[in-house]
Amino acid sequence: MSLPQVCDSGSDSALVSLKWDARFLGLAIHISAWSKDPSSQVGAVITDGNRIISLGYNGFAAGVEDSEARLRDRHCKLNLTIHAEENAMIFAKRDITGCTVYVTHPPCPRCASKLIQEEVQRIVFIAPSDDFLSRWADDLQLSYQMYQEAAIAYQVYTLEEITIDNANITMAPGGFFRQLLISYNC
Ligand SMILES: [Zn+2]
Repeated sequence: MSLPQVCDSGSDSALVSLKWDARFLGLAIHISAWSKDPSSQVGAVITDGNRIISLGYNGFAAGVEDSEARLRDRHCKLNLTIHAEENAMIFAKRDITGCTVYVTHPPCPRCASKLIQEEVQRIVFIAPSDDFLSRWADDLQLSYQMYQEAAIAYQVYTLEEITIDNANITMAPGGFFRQLLISYNC
C-alpha cells in the first residue's frame, strides 16, 4: 500500500504548517505514553488552529479497572478500550467542526468515520511502522478511501520529521528541554 506523500513546497505557509504539525504530533507522542496498553500506545490532540481543544490516549473508561489480566486478554482489551481519537472527541465537550486532529497512528475505520462525521477539517498522523502496516493494511486502506470519498484532508509525516528543529522549539539554557536532553545523554 502506498502512502500519500507529505507536501513540501518550501513556502512560508508550508513551514508554518510543518512547525505546528511537528509540535502537535510531538505532543501526541508524549500523550501516548500515558496509555497503559502493553502493546499499542496511541495519543491524539485536537486543535482549533493553534489552540488545543482536547487530548486523548487509548484506554478503558474512567473507573473501569484496567488490570493486567484484562490488558493481556486481547478480546477483553479490544472490547473495553476507547481509542485515543474517541477519547479526545469525548473530552472535547464541544463541536469540533473545522478542527484538526493529530494522531500518533493512522486512525482505524471506526475512528475515521467518526472524525468525518464530526466534520473535522484535517487529520494529521505519523506514517505507520512496517509491522503496524502489515497488521492493519486493509483497515488503513478503508480509512484512506473514506477520506477521499468524504473529501477530508489528511497529511502523513514520517517519525524522522518530528524534530526539535522542525517544531522550532526554543532550547533555553535553563529550560526543561535542555535539561531533559542532557539527562537522556547521560
Ligand atoms: Zn480507532
